[in-house]
Amino acid sequence: MSSLPGAAAWEQYAELLAASLRAASSVLVITGAGVSAESGLPTFRGTGGLWDGEPVEAVATPAAFARDPERVWRFYHARRRAVLRAKPNAAHLALAALEARVGHFLLVTQNVDDLHERAGSTALVKLHGNLLEDLCTACSTITPAPPVPPAAGGVPRCTCGGLLRPNVVWFGEWLRQNDLRRLERFLLRSRWSDPRGVALVVGTSGTVSGGYGLVEAARDAGAVVVEVNPESTALSGCCDLCIRARAAEALSKVVARLEQD
Ligand code: NAD
Ligand code: ZN
Repeated sequence: MSSLPGAAAWEQYAELLAASLRAASSVLVITGAGVSAESGLPTFRGTGGLWDGEPVEAVATPAAFARDPERVWRFYHARRRAVLRAKPNAAHLALAALEARVGHFLLVTQNVDDLHERAGSTALVKLHGNLLEDLCTACSTITPAPPVPPAAGGVPRCTCGGLLRPNVVWFGEWLRQNDLRRLERFLLRSRWSDPRGVALVVGTSGTVSGGYGLVEAARDAGAVVVEVNPESTALSGCCDLCIRARAAEALSKVVARLEQD
């Protein structure tokens, strides 16, 4: 495993990643909260892991919603307001540009914001759901969230009368079957060796999910695994190359090199 010691080595690392991407016929990208940090959306660690004095994990659970849905909605309305104010940054844009250059590509995000979509990514699996959708707890209908989150409290209801909740995967819930099937199909159709595919892990600590075994699966199948994160993570040990830089700077430079071809 290599890491980026300083700016002087940056050019070589970017060139190595660009060369791997140029040769690859399959590219899997996994993103986490760090990719949206430069759009002003804090990571959970960036907020100290707390909201209203409580660990975020204690607000984002089915049990918390059953106990006090109004409080859980206050948290999600605040997050929705922040997402609606935010704009995609250079990392989101670079990943959308990368998708356009690679034949077999999938972006798997743990983020519930819509910044990848707004940047133009389409081959996208939103593993933890969509913050800007409501899900009815009674009839399971999914609807777009109102364009302006209400200033007052209260708990929104479906037309069927059921309580609405945000359409996100909470701590302690299963990932959605549809998403898992799409991932499985992508992995089955991927080519990871000769030429080597690339698994690119950006802005995730790996503590929530450990990448759901995706990084290990791609590595074991022969992919070059590259991490872009200013800090070392639970996944760093699985990587062939660790670029210790912020996502916007690193990814825009790598994609700019690809576009020089
Ligand atoms: P995390 O908070 O555990 O880790 C964030 C990672 O991003 C850290 O490793 C940090 O070093 C890195 N990072 C910070 N700034 C960065 C930058 N500029 N460039 C690259 N990396 C940077 O987040 P996680 O691993 O995604 O998982 C936590 C959970 O939090 C997920 O379930 C996710 O759904 C949720 N979450 C989502 C959002 C969002 O949708 N924008 C925001 C906060 C949390
Ligand atoms: Zn309903």
